[in-house]
Amino acid sequence: MKYLKNYLCGQLCPPQSDVYLDNFEPATGQIYSQIPDSDHRDVQKAVEAAQAAFPMWTSIGAQARSNFLNKIADGIEARLEEFAHAESMDSGKPISVARTVDIPRAVTNFRFFATAILHFSSESHFMEAEKALNVTLRQPIGVVGCISPWNLPLYLFSWKIAPALAAGNCVVAKPSELTPMTAFLLSEVCIEANLPAGVLNILHGLGSKVGQSIIEHIDIKAISFTGGTATGRHLAVTAAPLFKKLSLELGGKNPALIFADCDFEKTVAEIVRASFSNNGQICLCASRIYVEKPIYEAFKNAFVERVKKLKTGNPYSEETDLGAVVSLAHLQKVKNYIDLAQTEGGKLLCGGKIIPSSGGYFLEPTVFEGLPLGCRSNQEEIFGPVVSIAPFDTEADALRLANGTNYGLAASVWTQHLGRSHRLSAALEFGIVWVNCWMLRDLRTPFGGSKQSGMGREGGLEALRFFTEIKNICVKY
Ligand code: NAD
Repeated sequence: MKYLKNYLCGQLCPPQSDVYLDNFEPATGQIYSQIPDSDHRDVQKAVEAAQAAFPMWTSIGAQARSNFLNKIADGIEARLEEFAHAESMDSGKPISVARTVDIPRAVTNFRFFATAILHFSSESHFMEAEKALNVTLRQPIGVVGCISPWNLPLYLFSWKIAPALAAGNCVVAKPSELTPMTAFLLSEVCIEANLPAGVLNILHGLGSKVGQSIIEHIDIKAISFTGGTATGRHLAVTAAPLFKKLSLELGGKNPALIFADCDFEKTVAEIVRASFSNNGQICLCASRIYVEKPIYEAFKNAFVERVKKLKTGNPYSEETDLGAVVSLAHLQKVKNYIDLAQTEGGKLLCGGKIIPSSGGYFLEPTVFEGLPLGCRSNQEEIFGPVVSIAPFDTEADALRLANGTNYGLAASVWTQHLGRSHRLSAALEFGIVWVNCWMLRDLRTPFGGSKQSGMGREGGLEALRFFTEIKNICVKY
């Protein structure tokens, strides 16, 4: 049995409690490792280490920090297969996806922010009449917290840590307790890269314990959080009175609007990908598919036909499209929504069942039609391989359906009509709109949602702005 350790002050350490938590392999349902059950004592030690490292880390300059981030990227890349295997084993996702998406993207995140910080500039404003010059500095905040979820473990963990470190902060980070393994491997890489002690501290354990201690700690000045909307709300209530800077990337209930003039074959294929990538466990996945009436029946049939062909099973097989969902609790949650959708008037077009296996958490990809907009299964985030499909009459109708939830993360529009694509993109109440594509990401662009999908934006300069404090200096001469 492998025992994971915290990465604290440059070393791998057991938790202060000396208590460990079971870590399950979703594909088998077996316990395969133990993770530290860290608490406020580990957080205190991590904050002290980070505070001690901060003056050095901020003063070595952007180029030196950039070099360290590139070394970390090299270290992950050199062990890519090991990381991909660990990610697949920990999360249940196909190893082919971990190998081609999750781990390469984590490498890219470190490299992207290693470069971005070298191009990050501040403003100055000259006052001719008053003979004064304003210089606006963007300085690192100090010690910051990064908390991430289980669906894209290293990918999202690095998406926070890399800009925080690049900007000159020291970090106390916590991966999800469901998928700690690649964060642990990242600790090893940081040690190999000689990252100075205390610059990055990675603590494992429960959200309600070590996570809560991070958000409550008075010396952690900013929190970058990705996770569920309910957790985000709790975090805001806790951190706002302490005047912490907050970036919240939360849940979604994303619509895809498909018009009769779309590129039919390409759209069917892309909507299957948008619906079921990573088992529907991506915050950006389409979960409500609206199709213009003239092509509704043809689109629905072609879509369901393709969904039925998806292969669910062994994550280590190269043939697999969908692996296991992340945990037994999540399997049950998603299955409860499938049962609920049937009581809410949903007609099951395919899927709907748990796939029998020797202990693993496998679900059939599931498509419903006939669900009213206001029902729970069409309003609440399921975050699994379940989508609903419905027809619409007019552009106005499509917009009303798309905007008719409390979430506002990502929408997609599928049409060849240029004017319509711009009209809808402007009117959709979402932080991200894709036209004739899905999850096409340029890391320089702002990333995040409106309404109950979050607060603030990550990505590119937005992340560097979040992880810095602004100071205006006015010099009269
Ligand atoms: P979650 O909210 O349960 O947990 C996220 C992280 O927060 C975990 O590390 C958890 O341990 C920690 N946490 C839990 N309670 C805490 C507390 N009281 N204090 C501090 N930390 C705490 O979410 P999850 O189930 O891990 O992830 C799935 C959710 O994440 C979905 O809602 C999904 O939409 C969302 N998500 C959003 C984005 C985005 O960019 N908007 C990206 C990926 C996932």
